[in-house]
Amino acid sequence: MLNIVLFGPPGAGKGTQSQKLIARYNLVHLSTGDLLRSQITQGTELGLRAKKLMDEGLLVPDEVVIGMIESQLANNTTAAGFIFDGFPRTVPQAQSLDELTQRYDTGVSCMIALEVAEEELVKRLLERGKTSGRPDDQDEAKIRRRVNVYNTETAQVAGYYAEQQKFHALNGIGAIEEIFTQICDIIDQKQVAPSISDGQQAADEVKA
Ligand code: AMP
Repeated sequence: MLNIVLFGPPGAGKGTQSQKLIARYNLVHLSTGDLLRSQITQGTELGLRAKKLMDEGLLVPDEVVIGMIESQLANNTTAAGFIFDGFPRTVPQAQSLDELTQRYDTGVSCMIALEVAEEELVKRLLERGKTSGRPDDQDEAKIRRRVNVYNTETAQVAGYYAEQQKFHALNGIGAIEEIFTQICDIIDQKQVAPSISDGQQAADEVKA
């Protein structure tokens, strides 16, 4: 399975690139922000609780988003793989994602981080807020809080994947197509390069 964590601050282009990636690699797109917004639209209790935090630019509790990802994985057992967009945002979420994917004898293939400076993010999100209808995109103070939450709580998730040699960073400023090509290059190298455990398995099969 191909399980990609698309990482980066709000406004880095994760949603745009996810749409292109699911088409190219036949993956299921799992965006915790979209899943939460769908709960809000449906007026569920979970949605009502999450809305207050989301409108303020704060993170929703780990157990809420982990539970949503757990049921999405259970509902998509025949998928070729997943793009995780906006998840994991904390180290406990990253640990849970490892545990959840291991249940299906798979794991995270790689994490690709889109890097964009704060002033560009603020500009992009204020522009998106004109049409997205998202309250968290329409107020500069809230946008800066989301970027601050990313820097203080989420950025350390990169270290979690770096320790596993799964971290790749890209400049998220530039033409959408060029960034997409660079992301695909990283994914394609992962797909052709066998991991150490694959090599060991192949060696074991030869011996058998
Ligand atoms: P996004 O659409 O990814 O920008 O997420 C919008 C908001 O949803 C965030 O500012 C958080 O309040 C909440 N959210 C989305 N994903 C997560 C997550 N993995 N952990 C905690 N909160 C999240």
